[in-house]
Amino acid sequence: MFHVKHAVKNFLTEVVNNMTDYISEEQIAMYLEHRKPDKKHYVDVLSKAAEGKGLLIEETAVLLSPPDEETKHLLFNTAGKVKQQIYGTRIVLFAPLYLSNYCGNNCLYCGFRKDNKIIKRRKLNNEEALEEVKLLEKQGHKRLLLVTGEASGSGVEYLADLIGDIYALTDIRRVNINVAPLTVDEFRMVKEAGIGTYQLFQETYHQPSYKYYHPSGKKSDYQWRISAFDRAMEAGIDDIGMGVLFGLYNYKFEVLALCQHAEYLERKFGVGPHTVSVPRLKRAPGAEIQTTPWMVDDEELKIIVAVLRLALPYTGIILSTRESQQLRNELLGLGVSQISAGSSTSPGGYSSSGDNNVQFEVHDTRSLDEVVASLCKDGYIPSFCTACYRRHRTGEAFMSLAKVGDIKELCLPNALLTFKENLLDYASQETKKLGENLIGKELCLLKNEALVNELKSRFERMNRGERDLYF
Ligand code: SAM
Ligand code: SF4
Repeated sequence: MFHVKHAVKNFLTEVVNNMTDYISEEQIAMYLEHRKPDKKHYVDVLSKAAEGKGLLIEETAVLLSPPDEETKHLLFNTAGKVKQQIYGTRIVLFAPLYLSNYCGNNCLYCGFRKDNKIIKRRKLNNEEALEEVKLLEKQGHKRLLLVTGEASGSGVEYLADLIGDIYALTDIRRVNINVAPLTVDEFRMVKEAGIGTYQLFQETYHQPSYKYYHPSGKKSDYQWRISAFDRAMEAGIDDIGMGVLFGLYNYKFEVLALCQHAEYLERKFGVGPHTVSVPRLKRAPGAEIQTTPWMVDDEELKIIVAVLRLALPYTGIILSTRESQQLRNELLGLGVSQISAGSSTSPGGYSSSGDNNVQFEVHDTRSLDEVVASLCKDGYIPSFCTACYRRHRTGEAFMSLAKVGDIKELCLPNALLTFKENLLDYASQETKKLGENLIGKELCLLKNEALVNELKSRFERMNRGERDLYF
């Protein structure tokens, strides 16, 4: 049962006057004091947000509190339009691969926590992990996110070797990682192995809550975790993915703190986050807590996604299978640009279904093919593109292209090429039909005749067996 003294109090009264380099809790509290902006002020801030150039933290604070239903819908519409302007209808797809559920930490909410005795522990060796990768590859995935618990001996060498083998022995084209904070030297090792994004969630930016939820193990050190991206950047990793585990503390506080953290990184390194994830706390077998007083409901999650889309217009927003099919569909229209599909959160879960060694429950259990078909029906182009990373358009190079809108010119054709490849190699008959139709419609919408001809010629080459064609 969750009972923590401070959690039920009004958080404004117990915010600690504690400045870190990364966020200022005092400043956030000040912005949130104006929690009920009047309608005119709210609409003024939305008009600025509609330009798609991002927002100041105080403006983001305003948007988090729509004064009524009408302004909330205006927020959703504006976020949807900005998303459409910047990302069009592309949705990037990936799968997580859980390598180990051994963990030395005791995060109260997690099924992998050290003191959970009901879970069977497993760490995949290199061959077992490659078996799982091959199963994901067979479904049509090209992007993976490797995930592990934090255990001594989980080994960065193991991770680096595996990443090398995945690139060398499979058709996976981009390997991202979500692992506990590393040292600069360890970050260098995974960078050399060729990781795409280094993803890490701060869980909660609120220090007293952080302390409560992370009572022991290395993860109990807030500073070590919040400074992880500094070390990653120092090691040359300019592609980072941030996130908060929504449900641990006041979501408005968390969104503002995340934006401050992003601003800090941009100021210090000239690069903000490439992605932001919006996981919500889910039930987890054997976890110490299953719910908190801060649980975020569906409407609040929609506000979070819409506000993040407007505050950080060029940052990808990632949504996992923690959420249901229906809510995922709605969130795609508000700002989400990447989703996982066909996921398991248990090490070895792709080869042995039905075990209960999961980190948390997933709610969208459709296969990749089913997700692709449903995206097509809703007019979204499923993308398996990895071109930017392979053409070294990451970090500042990516952002400067993105901010002048040039990236869109590359992304749509690349998305169509990878989608075509997916249809040729992996799709069911029904998905193929839906997909070919969608590609036909997209070609008709393109105004650049030379590009249409180039795409058609590449599709022909693909029909004859060529693969991996990208701009
Ligand atoms: N062990 C590393 C760590 O904690 O940073 C990396 C991987 S951890 C397996 C990935 C993420 O899962 C965590 O950062 C946390 O946000 C999320 N998570 C843990 N328990 C969860 C739960 N019950 N519901 C939803 N997400 C959860
Ligand atoms: Fe371990 Fe990560 Fe789970 Fe915490 S969230 S118990 S560090 S796997």
